[in-house]
This record gives sequence, structure tokens and C-alpha cells, in this order.
Amino acid sequence: MRVAAYAAQGPETPVEPFEIDRRNLQPNDVLIEITWCGVCHSDIHTARNEWGRTRYPVVPGHEIVGRVSAVGADVTRHKVGDTVGVGCLVDACLACPACADGDEQYCEKGSIGTYGGTEPVIGGPTFGGYSKQIVVRDAFVLKVSDKLNPAEVAPLLCAGITSWSPLKHWNVKKGDKVGVIGLGGLGHMGVKFAVAMGCDVVMITTSPEKGADAKRLGAHDVLISGDRAAMKAHRGSFDFLLNTVPVKHDLNPYLMLLARNATMVLVGAIEPLEEMHGGLLLAGRRRLAGSGIGGIEETQEMLDFCAAHGVTSDVEIIAMKDINTAYDRVVKGDVKYRFVIDIATL
Ligand code: NAP
Ligand code: ZN
Repeated sequence: MRVAAYAAQGPETPVEPFEIDRRNLQPNDVLIEITWCGVCHSDIHTARNEWGRTRYPVVPGHEIVGRVSAVGADVTRHKVGDTVGVGCLVDACLACPACADGDEQYCEKGSIGTYGGTEPVIGGPTFGGYSKQIVVRDAFVLKVSDKLNPAEVAPLLCAGITSWSPLKHWNVKKGDKVGVIGLGGLGHMGVKFAVAMGCDVVMITTSPEKGADAKRLGAHDVLISGDRAAMKAHRGSFDFLLNTVPVKHDLNPYLMLLARNATMVLVGAIEPLEEMHGGLLLAGRRRLAGSGIGGIEETQEMLDFCAAHGVTSDVEIIAMKDINTAYDRVVKGDVKYRFVIDIATL
């Protein structure tokens, strides 16, 4: 099936119109007419080969919302007309211990990414959501409540689950002092979720001008990371830190913020980091950890929580042709707080 899309052909080229092949519907497949697709910073890292492993052409996009237009013969959990979502994963073995635990993102046979993975039926790379239609195995298709604005739901499929999963895994609870580092796509969802969980939330940002927004999103306090005196005043006080900084940076000032036994979880910088001082971990038995997106079941739980509590992403809608300008703005931190492509404009 030929499908209209937008792709990057190389690290220096813009993201431009392109045609891709999607596999024909298999018995367990769902065909989705994509209506909205969020723009994750990972799309930019990948399109520009900043992680050094991009296979071109790449069609980015893993924050997909759309409507089911056909289902394979064996599909029971989705039907034509349903509003559905697809995140960063489109397949996994579903049999290994990681998959059995609901951690399909850590599948021991290798999960298949929505873009840049290997298409299991027709071969070649998988292509993401900057396209009109996508064919996805039913188990990887999420149900989206029609109570929520679908454009504002799209970013939940990556930015949302990536912030939600560590808060749940590390049992962050009511009353905990939680710091969210970086007010971008992931960070603004981290603030919303931690606030909804009843935490005492501090937005930790390099951008003083984002302080008012952080408060509007529900943060109780704002900490400017470049303000040494303020950083010192918060030293040793956080129960949990969610670090969404997208590039190599100095972790030491943030580690100093952790209380005894507390954990900082990295979800942003997927690259070599600056030197870290081991003493900061020994002192107070602090922990540094990482987390990648989330499993399918917990993604559904997060979407259901959002429907029940009216939580969605703050979005700026763009036309497909404006994607390259949007990329430049994300890199400058100039987005409130997620661009979402109106796929009707493709
Ligand atoms: P984003 O919208 O660009 O937000 C990142 C924020 O980090 C910026 O808005 C900025 O906030 C802050 N920041 C930027 N450069 C910084 C620097 N040099 N030092 C300190 N802070 C800095 O990006 P995103 O879409 O949220 O994604 C964040 C990162 O997570 C990306 O690298 C992405 O690839 C990665 N990611 C990981 C997963 C996963 O599974 N773990 C999933 C999705 C995305 P302030 O202006 O407030 O400082
Ligand atoms: Zn993403």
C-alpha cells in the first residue's frame, strides 16, 4: 500500500514529502488513518542523526492518534471507527520475561520501534507517524477516550508515558518532593502527573522566563538551575528527580539536590555524559537510574488516568509543511510544550 509521508533523506536535508510502502493488513493488524502526530525531540535527534544510528530515509513520528479504518480477521480489541493511539513501539516478541512483565520496550528479542526498526513483514525500515496511514499489530494499538481532545492526546503516547512510567516504577507518592528538570515536552507532562499524584513539585529549569508557565502547569515552586544560591538552598531535599535534559550535561549539581536514598532518573540524554563524581552517590546512598518509554499496559493505564482526570498535553498545532521550522524551535526550547502536526495538512 502506497502512503503519503514526510521523510528526511540524510542528516543535513530537511524533512520533505515522500511516499512509503505499508504492509497489507495481516490477520492481527489494524489500519489507522492518522489524524495527529506529536513532534518529539527524539524525532529531531533521529532525523539529524545525532545518535549516529539513523537509517535513511526516516519517517519520524511516534506520538500518533487516528481512527481505525480496517481490521484484520483476528482482531477483537479494536473496531472500525475507534479513536486509537500508537506510541514508540509497534511490535515485540510478547513471550520473553520482559514482555511477560509488561516491559515490551525492553523485549529480550528486541522491540520494534515505530520508526527506524525493521518492518517484520515486508522488510526495510519501519516508518512513523508523519504519514497518512499506518498498519500496526493490534496488541500495540492503544484505546483513546473520545472525552479528550485527540490533538492533545498525541504527545501522551511518548512524552506522557516516558514521564509517567518512572514516577510509577519508583513509587513516587503523595507528599514526596519531586523535581522535574527541563520544561519541554517530557517535562511539562512530568509536572502535570506529579501534581496529579499529590506531590510537592519543583520545576527545575535553565529558563527563568518559563517560571510563570511552570506554576500554571501546577508546579509549587520553580528552581533556576543557574542560580547557585537557590540550588544550594534546595540541596539534599528531593525525594525524586526526573531529568529530561536532551543533551550531554553536568549531572553533579542535580545529584546534590537528592535527599538520602533518593533517586534521579535520566530519560533525556541518550548519549555519553559528562564526568560524574562518585562521592555524590555514596553520600546519602543516592541513586542514578534510567528509564525508557513504558510498556503497553502501563501506557493504557496512563491514557485511562488522563481521561479520568482530564489531563492532556499543552500543544501548538502545526501544518506538515512547517515541520522544519518546528524542529529549529524545539532545539531552541521555544515550544509550549509540544508541537502536534495536523495530518490533514499532509
Ligand atoms: P524538549 O521539548 O526539547 O525539552 C527539553 C528541555 O530540556 C528544554 O525545553 C529545556 O528546558 C531543557 N534543556 C535543553 N537543553 C538543556 C541543557 N543544555 N541543559 C539543561 N537543560 C536543557 O525535549 P523532549 O521532547 O521533552 O525530550 C527530552 C529528551 O528526552 C530528548 O533527548 C528525547 O530524545 C528524550 N526522550 C527519551 C525518551 C525515553 O524513552 N527515555 C522518550 C522520549 C524522549 P528548560 O528551558 O526548562 O531548561
Ligand atoms: Zn518520543
